[in-house]
Amino acid sequence: MQQDVRTPGRRASAWRGFDGRSADRIDSQMREGRRPCCPLCRELLEARPVTRMIRHLVLDASGYDLECRTCRRFRSVIKHTARSLRLVRMRRLAAAVRATGSREPALA
Ligand SMILES: [Zn+2]
Repeated sequence: MQQDVRTPGRRASAWRGFDGRSADRIDSQMREGRRPCCPLCRELLEARPVTRMIRHLVLDASGYDLECRTCRRFRSVIKHTARSLRLVRMRRLAAAVRATGSREPALA
């Protein structure tokens, strides 16, 4: 019974990332040097100094979130350094090599 009371509140307070199309719009606003606003409600987005994606960051990469409190949506902006970018690329390459390797027939 108590859970029934809690669930709607928790759902209402859950933050979600902007979907791909909205995220693209925010990115292009930033590229144009404008202060990004929410593609859904047009409120100015607020910067949150530490990204929610912090656990997924590699090495010394840093990031912040742009968020709309009205829609409870956020866009993570990740800033890579030369080191972290190199690691991300190496991981991608390693994954690509693994994917290729597994498709090769085993040596008889
Ligand atoms: Zn909004």
